[in-house]
Amino acid sequence: MKLNGLTFKKYLTASHLKNRVKKLAEKIDLDYQKKTPLLLPVLNGSFIFAADLIKQLKVPCKVSFVKHASYEGTAGGQLKTIIGLNESVFGQDVLIVEDIMDTGETLKRVSEELKNLGAKSVEFVVLLQKEKSKKNPIKPKYIGFEITNEFVVGYGLDHNGLGRNFPDVYQVVPNG
Ligand code: 5GP
Ligand code: MG
Repeated sequence: MKLNGLTFKKYLTASHLKNRVKKLAEKIDLDYQKKTPLLLPVLNGSFIFAADLIKQLKVPCKVSFVKHASYEGTAGGQLKTIIGLNESVFGQDVLIVEDIMDTGETLKRVSEELKNLGAKSVEFVVLLQKEKSKKNPIKPKYIGFEITNEFVVGYGLDHNGLGRNFPDVYQVVPNG
């Protein structure tokens, strides 16, 4: 498959994704049975994963959406913050829904930010965890698939804006 001049191969099929998402929902139902978690899907990449996951959940839950934004840190580097939060997270059991953990820097920032806002607990459900992210001290509680470091698209994830609509996940073929 060609996208923006790159070659991609099918990597995770729609049926694999569906089965795994169902398992994640079962685990979350079990862990949150006495709670009412606030699910926070991080747009745009997680929109399909979040919809499929949330449809499978049986536990009462709230849902609100956030986005990442980058800003210049005082030391010059790009820092990440979350925007669009229109729900109080104070005292809430927050479950952040992310498409992919690459370096893990984004997750680390988001976790700190929500704890500062008084969240009772902050956990992550991440569909895809790249191998290199394991160096990061942040460990998502729920992980869909552990994958190699190559770029992926589909099932909500894009490459330069394209590919979000693909039902399967595709991985780039280096020099393909
Ligand atoms: P991190 O802060 O963990 O390095 O970056 C995570 C973000 O980078 C993800 O939320 C996603 O937007 C983007 N990203 C990282 N790897 C990939 C990838 O393989 N494919 C796509 N489409 N986005 C990626
Ligand atoms: Mg993301």
